[in-house]
Amino acid sequence: MGHPLLDLTNKTAVVIGGTSGIGLALARGLAQAGANVVPTGRRAELVRKSAAEMEALGRRSLVETCDVTDNSSIERLLQAVSAEFGSVQILVNCAGRTKKMPTLDFPESDWDAIFETNLKGTLRACRIFGRHMIERRYGRIINIGSLSSLVGLFEVAAYGASKAGVASLTKTLAIEWATSGVCVNALIPGVLRTELNADLLDGTERGKEFLLRTPMRRFGKLDELAGAAVFLASDASSFVTGHLLVVDGGILASGVNQ
Ligand code: NDP
Repeated sequence: MGHPLLDLTNKTAVVIGGTSGIGLALARGLAQAGANVVPTGRRAELVRKSAAEMEALGRRSLVETCDVTDNSSIERLLQAVSAEFGSVQILVNCAGRTKKMPTLDFPESDWDAIFETNLKGTLRACRIFGRHMIERRYGRIINIGSLSSLVGLFEVAAYGASKAGVASLTKTLAIEWATSGVCVNALIPGVLRTELNADLLDGTERGKEFLLRTPMRRFGKLDELAGAAVFLASDASSFVTGHLLVVDGGILASGVNQ
């Protein structure tokens, strides 16, 4: 039995962008801590598979797709989850996209598309689920930032600006909703090795630079984010709001490492 403040039994969590990568790992972590979890995204097949995973962990779930570029789709999601579970206590905003290219060549249409998903998508979901949480005077919102919320990363200007925006939005909503029982925080993952990016990290110059800059001298694993998410999703974080919780093996703390 874990610490009672960290127990998410009978709580309902919606993880947007929860059907792949980091979001799916966070969805699993919340389910393992006891929550009923609705992982969602645009692709119905992935939504079905992820919901089945939550059920295999012994929790309730729901199959409902969502596109954060469309308010009505997020409204439908909230209605479906409310009809099934009564209310939503936890929202994770993990839908995200990126593109790496020199800024001088970067098409404005790609810049806009990245902002529509990463920043405005987060805003839309925060507003729709935030109103629901404020009415019930309880909520935990976890936005997903990036190292680029805080430092420059090479040739990803749109992504970095959108994620700096997510960090700023997190703090602003935190203070607006601070007396409503709704805590708004962000999780900042460092460099995580997944099947998708293993080729970009293993033995490459970029990978070597990241390792040199990481005091722990290794990449993170997806499940190393779950504990931080469970904390921010739980009653244990009742006096924590507007915080950026960095899980990065020490990168942002480091100056010279040798
Ligand atoms: P993945 O591509 O594996 O997952 C992205 C998820 O978001 C999928 O579930 C996808 O499903 C969903 N998604 C994408 N667009 C939308 C949309 N418009 N509406 C709803 N859902 C959407 O990415 P990662 O797991 O790597 O990244 C997840 C988040 O973590 C992003 O915000 C990313 O910026 C951030 N991050 C990632 C790091 C990493 O090392 N990978 C490091 C730091 C931050 P579908 O396409 O079906 O909609």
